[in-house]
Amino acid sequence: TLNGKTAVITGSNSGIGLGVARELAKAGADVVLNSFTDTPEDHALAQSIADEFGVKARYISADMSNGEACRALIEQAGVCDILVNNAGIQHVAAIDEFPTDKWDAIIAINMSSAFHTTAAALPKMRAAGWGRVINIASAHGLTASPFKSAYVAAKHGVVGLTKVTALETAEEDITANAICPGYVLTPLVEAQIPDTMEKYGMDRETVIREVLLERQPSKAFATVEQLGGTCVFLASDAAAQMTGTTLSIDGGWTAL
Ligand code: NAD
Repeated sequence: TLNGKTAVITGSNSGIGLGVARELAKAGADVVLNSFTDTPEDHALAQSIADEFGVKARYISADMSNGEACRALIEQAGVCDILVNNAGIQHVAAIDEFPTDKWDAIIAINMSSAFHTTAAALPKMRAAGWGRVINIASAHGLTASPFKSAYVAAKHGVVGLTKVTALETAEEDITANAICPGYVLTPLVEAQIPDTMEKYGMDRETVIREVLLERQPSKAFATVEQLGGTCVFLASDAAAQMTGTTLSIDGGWTAL
């Protein structure tokens, strides 16, 4: 049980981050939700997790494309025993047509934010004598696809950062690991379906099976609950000697 631990999950008002926050809360952790918006719905989401699981839950707005804001999120959280770096965006285009502003945003949100939050969280973990850094990378942190240059570069970078974090904390009761999901049907993936339907002249079901899940041998999406469960495992004593590694939740993608 994670009673008494506080988890900060970046990008957690939707998709995988929200699923991870819910599973950590179910396991007893207090949770800090985050995104760049600051709406009544965002705060209501935190309240609903508090009510459902009987833990403390807060929503803190902070834009993960801004390094100072990343660090401020951790400071505002106060305690950060479990840090889940999850915020991420996608853009799909050939390298020679890839907009520079999209490249910069993806590198900042998907990779550099994890550097800033980790830098701010490690002193807190050291003070507590315990910590878990969990980076949500991707199968694209281990392998590539065309037209996803920024995303693949950022996710490979996150895997590298995870290894360095693990080495710098190796003798302490702090671990750092990366989870590498294959496809999970979240708003991020949903948003890629219409373009892909148009590009290949396919219907939705065909895009899902033949394009999205083409490289996922299980032909099934991973779920946010499964990813949350993996985070709970990484935060448990059973995983205390797992550090600097990647866990693939990808239906066999990286076995191909
Ligand atoms: P999503 O779009 O549902 O969620 C992304 C979250 O990040 C949202 O809460 C969004 O508000 C937040 N976010 C975006 N920009 C932000 C910013 N500037 N500051 C703060 N928060 C911001 O997508 P998802 O599929 O749940 O993705 C979550 C993570 O999982 C991402 O890092 C993504 O790369 C990774 N991932 C997703 C899949 C998949 O198939 N869905 C696969 C592998 C990895």
